Amino acid sequence: MKINFYNYQRLAGHCLFMLMSMCLLIGLSSCSSGPYESQVHGGSRTQSLSQDALGHRPGPRGFTTVIIDAGHGGRDSGAVSHGLSEKAVALDTAHRLKEKLKGKFKVVLVRSGDRFVSLDDRVEIANKYSSAILVSLHYNASRAAFIRGPETYYWRVDSHGLASRIQKNMEQASGGRYSGLGKKRRRLRLTRNSKIPSVLLEFGYLTNYSDARLVKSSAYRDRLASAVASAIITQSKIGDRGTGPLPKPINRPLSRSTDAPGS
Ligand SMILES: [Zn+2]
Repeated sequence: MKINFYNYQRLAGHCLFMLMSMCLLIGLSSCSSGPYESQVHGGSRTQSLSQDALGHRPGPRGFTTVIIDAGHGGRDSGAVSHGLSEKAVALDTAHRLKEKLKGKFKVVLVRSGDRFVSLDDRVEIANKYSSAILVSLHYNASRAAFIRGPETYYWRVDSHGLASRIQKNMEQASGGRYSGLGKKRRRLRLTRNSKIPSVLLEFGYLTNYSDARLVKSSAYRDRLASAVASAIITQSKIGDRGTGPLPKPINRPLSRSTDAPGS
């Protein structure tokens, strides 16, 4: 195509539009020093970094409160596969975990029934508590039906020990049968934006036939809840001892719904 001046102008405008779209698509995190960050958080880049810095310390010991967040709920079913609904099995496991921690900690359920709670509201609820940890419970899904097993996500330095303990215990409870990501550092709304140590657990893949068969058994869900409870109790007794070196502190903006997946 021959490019005359008119076409050149259109092309330049098109390129600028493409560049801006790409910036949005790639993830606003990479553009976060720009005005967008200030608009979204009221000029709070410093504030969001200092909130991140709250997590730059060893993991907690002697905490008194456990906040259990059953993922999804209400109009948000989460993963649905092999006749299982993530919101229902996550809630069931949350109640089981609560029973196992009762008497040892103050236990708070973010939702105790089939109710929709936004991710930001979940963080807000968690942020009301001090001397607390947040444990978010999920079951996973993938287009690759062969992927199975538990995964644990964390972001803050002070959540690493707890994440390691829980992942190890969940792997044992699942009989060591897993092919997923294991323990993974990821900046999610629930791992990054809360002011207390936080982990997000994926107990297994509902899209995997063998995992789904296990999850259908209430005895198996009970075993998973016991695995998590035991990791929480150990963490509260001895802190990070035996969980390896702490990860490097990272300062990144708050996680937002507009972030690209995995950013
Ligand atoms: Zn989920």
